[in-house]
Amino acid sequence: MGLLNGKFAIVTGAASPRGLGKATATLFAQHGATVAILDLDADQAAAAAADLPGEGHVGLACNVVDKAACQAAADELIAKWGAVDILVNNAGITQPLKLMDIMPENYDAVTDVSLRGTLYMTQALTPHFRERKAGSIVNLSSVSAQRGGGIFGGPHYSAAKAGVLGLTKASARELAPDGVRVNALCPGFIATDITAGKLTEEMRTQVLAGIPMGRAGTAEDVAGCALFLASDLSAYCTGTEVDVNGGSLI
Ligand code: NAD
Repeated sequence: MGLLNGKFAIVTGAASPRGLGKATATLFAQHGATVAILDLDADQAAAAAADLPGEGHVGLACNVVDKAACQAAADELIAKWGAVDILVNNAGITQPLKLMDIMPENYDAVTDVSLRGTLYMTQALTPHFRERKAGSIVNLSSVSAQRGGGIFGGPHYSAAKAGVLGLTKASARELAPDGVRVNALCPGFIATDITAGKLTEEMRTQVLAGIPMGRAGTAEDVAGCALFLASDLSAYCTGTEVDVNGGSLI
């Protein structure tokens, strides 16, 4: 069953082969969507798009911290496809720093990608979504926002992802009358390049002890929830946050 047949979707930060964005783009394509992968490197974005099932997918270079680049990518895709239905604001970076080690450049780098990126891509597509009276935006937050930190993210990462939740709820409230939905995903400990190779065995045991389901999540676990939020299955959901964390917050 194609939950996204005939839909056009943009996923930012989706070139990383083991990342949540790539898994989401892949599942969307399997469900009939035409997908644009936006990432820092044009060749990597194009290669990731070529790897998706089906035809017509696009890979573009777009640094989401650059407002003009976000607008240019959105305009190019609207012109090419005639419509965009779904935006997944997935690009994000993390740094495992303690409070007192965060320098201004660390703060800027981490908050810029998650917060500015989400804001700029949302702004770039909002006039189009409003005109069509439709659109589904899925923003990547994190369990780090909900419980104040985790193993991989410093306080600046928690703050950035908490900011994403605020941005999600405020934009959901503002855009609901226009038929546009905005929701957030809060993944817990997911095995991707962001987390790979960064845990000692002792840390791993400690992390898994805090997860009632007893395992790390997979990128596919997150992609399934992104599909739910992007598709009409969640037609009456906006401003919500969906936890994908194996029960970590119970
Ligand atoms: P990843 O590092 O595998 O992929 C991130 C991608 O974002 C990369 O392809 C990178 O090139 C791209 N990117 C970085 N800066 C960019 C920019 N300025 N413009 C465009 N693209 C940029 O990360 P992931 O683990 O797949 O995480 C995806 C999202 O999920 C992130 O927002 C992350 O914070 C969030 N998240 C991840 C986990 C986890 O456990 N992996 C948990 C909670 C939340």
